[in-house]
Amino acid sequence: MEERDDEAAGVPDMTMMPHITEQAINDNLRRRYKYDLVYTYTGSILVAVNPYKELGCYGMDTMLEYRGKAFGTLPPHVFALAESAYSSLRNGEKNQSVVISGESGAGKTETTKLILQYLCAAGGQASWAEQQILEANTVLEAFGNAKTVRNDNSSRFGKFVEVRLDGRGGIRGAVLRHFLLERARITEPAPRETNYHVFYQLLEGTKHNKELRSTLRLRDDVQYKYLRPEDEEARKGRGGEQGKLEALQLALTVLQVPPQMCEGLFKVLAAVLWLGNIQFQDVDGERTALAPSDTEAVEAAAALLGLAPATARRVLLERQINVRGNVTDIPLRLHEARENRHAMARALYSRTFSWLVRHVNSCSAPGRDATRALGVLDIFGFENFASNSLEQLCINYANEKLHMFFNNYVFALEQEIYQQEGIVYNPIPFTDNAVCLELLEKPPRSLLKLLSEQCHMPKGSDGAYLTNIQGEFGEHTSFVKGSRRRWEEQFGVRHYAGDVTYSVQGFVDKNRDTQQDAFIDHLSRSQNPFVRELADYVTELSPPGQDCTLSSPNSMGTTQRGTSKGRPTVVDTFRAQLQSLVDMLQATHVWYVRCIKPNENKEAGKFNADLVLEQLRYLGMNEIVRIRRDGFPVHLPREHFLQRYRCALPAACKEPDISAIMAVVGAPATDWQVGHTKVFMRSSVHAPLEARRNHL
Ligand code: ATP
Ligand code: MG
Repeated sequence: MEERDDEAAGVPDMTMMPHITEQAINDNLRRRYKYDLVYTYTGSILVAVNPYKELGCYGMDTMLEYRGKAFGTLPPHVFALAESAYSSLRNGEKNQSVVISGESGAGKTETTKLILQYLCAAGGQASWAEQQILEANTVLEAFGNAKTVRNDNSSRFGKFVEVRLDGRGGIRGAVLRHFLLERARITEPAPRETNYHVFYQLLEGTKHNKELRSTLRLRDDVQYKYLRPEDEEARKGRGGEQGKLEALQLALTVLQVPPQMCEGLFKVLAAVLWLGNIQFQDVDGERTALAPSDTEAVEAAAALLGLAPATARRVLLERQINVRGNVTDIPLRLHEARENRHAMARALYSRTFSWLVRHVNSCSAPGRDATRALGVLDIFGFENFASNSLEQLCINYANEKLHMFFNNYVFALEQEIYQQEGIVYNPIPFTDNAVCLELLEKPPRSLLKLLSEQCHMPKGSDGAYLTNIQGEFGEHTSFVKGSRRRWEEQFGVRHYAGDVTYSVQGFVDKNRDTQQDAFIDHLSRSQNPFVRELADYVTELSPPGQDCTLSSPNSMGTTQRGTSKGRPTVVDTFRAQLQSLVDMLQATHVWYVRCIKPNENKEAGKFNADLVLEQLRYLGMNEIVRIRRDGFPVHLPREHFLQRYRCALPAACKEPDISAIMAVVGAPATDWQVGHTKVFMRSSVHAPLEARRNHL
């Protein structure tokens, strides 16, 4: 780190900058980054640039430094934001939430962890509930994170962690919601990427634990296909798995997963690995057989799942169709059998993930006295890849939804209040994405709705869906017809963060997410008690607020062709989940953290200004800075203002008035106004008032 020159190190709060342009914001962040000042405020919004190295500013000493301090009195830090949210709760203000956004690798999950760590430390002596919250994270990361080209520890699901507290600020438990675990990765990690961490942890850990290894029928000398053994590039940068299995086992113990269930769960993971190694061969174009040379994989998978070998063979080679109560077995063709096996692996894994989330919720369930809540949202950022599918549409839809919420929260409502209160202000324009959201979700006809309709039709197909939406939305300003050459396969959406082209292939199957009913039925009679639980409780897509997953294309002609009318599809569930999330956020005070990735190489000290600029646009930073600077982000009812700051006046002053208080801190007349019922201030006035109050 270079010796710091305070001038050159930029400003800690960008609302203080005299000229606000994208360039100026970018430049300010760059200067600060050079001195390892990765945090910068924009009023109450925190911008965090990923340092990609240990900064040494997250220890207990730093936590204590920020404890009890008003926002803005110390240098910008994620702990300052956590402290403010926490102390607002303790002061009896409404529930709080922190929305963390940014692209993959920007630092959302690290930020979430730091906030949770701060809260757990602030809650007083380490309690069981706090330990469980921290350990739940170990488990979620093992099962839900993987190495991708963008991030060595990429979260492949979204989460909202709601910490519940009692009236005194003690932590009483947590409630977790998760969104869209990526399922394609379980059976087909992309080139140069890996499967979920837990598989590697399990293989590494059982190298030293022979007993567990034989219980799980794992072998050192077998290469598991789902782990892409041939992909040298993917394995690079992995490692550090030593001790991880023990840590995971400890976390499961803290979360009170009974030993028998732990073993059952590990068996399911091992079974998934073996399923990937099963080899099929074609019999006569209509039927498929298991490769005779390779019986180990089938036997191991069957044993681990607690199924009789004959049963396993049946579910691997046949499907059952149910025509008005008559069940018939139909042999699977080769490609169907292969895909069917992948679908089984994905179902097992994603149900295991859901089971874990529910388990965490049941064991860290807050008691009745937990009346207050502080939630942290760590959800995928906007995605635009070379090829985009239903997963990206869902992710970008979530971002549109949160962007709309943010706009409403920060811009629309704010300006409405100014109007009601008779405040003089310059209207601040912002990118309104209502039209795009309408295209995506507005009933009765929207991109999502038409997709679900297509899935309810027995002959529904990707092609028919595309024709439908092209006919329906051809003229819509947010709809982009695919390029002429690819219009039979693609369509585009004009998102607030840019145009994205989606390939329609696989949309219908992914959204239907059908499982072979016969397979689930067999699981419910398994010898493995954990497997029985998997079969039992996620037989349908869960109701909103529970879980939601996406599978990869399923070309096998499963038992049910259409999805019955009443059954919600994946996007139906996701939409309901998002709506309930937004409704919940609406009732809270929301804090924002905007995470920024400084370069594509996971490198410390490199600030790529073009890359950052692009993110500043996605994150709407320019507009945020303007509203925070030109608007009056702090509002207090007049009485409340007088009560709170009368201490700034000499004790002799009998009749405190607003102007007198403002004069004490030398607030310029342009930086505050008095409305019909409230006092409005810029942050530049509020901060010194608070500081004064704290010093007196
Ligand atoms: P994804 O969307 O892929 O889950 P993310 O935004 O959650 O990405 P993180 O996993 O939080 O990204 O961060 C990526 C990596 O960046 C971390 O594994 C860590 O190496 C580094 N990193 C992030 N934040 C910090 C920090 N505050 N201090 C040090 N390193 C950090
Ligand atoms: Mg993450």
